[in-house]
Amino acid sequence: MEELPVMPMKTCCICGEDYPLVEYFRCATSKDGHGYACRNCSNLETQYRNMKTKYSKDYRKYLDRHRMIAKRYQRLIMGMTPREAARDEMRGMQESN
Ligand SMILES: [Zn+2]
Repeated sequence: MEELPVMPMKTCCICGEDYPLVEYFRCATSKDGHGYACRNCSNLETQYRNMKTKYSKDYRKYLDRHRMIAKRYQRLIMGMTPREAARDEMRGMQESN
């Protein structure tokens, strides 16, 4: 039996999950040729950026609708690692229940 090549893994810098490289969009400027965030998060990030630009006046409305993402970004901006941010989110959810 032939050995399967080991799928290189990468940690998404937004959700903190490990995914195989194929789950990352190609990015010519990055060291390994792939983006820093998984496909899911990249899509969210693009959406987030577009919305932020498009609805800067209605930014609060946008925050309400996308509170989870917005909070995660706030945490990341505050210097938390994705894993810490996720843990913090879980805690917040448990407390609000
Ligand atoms: Zn991700």
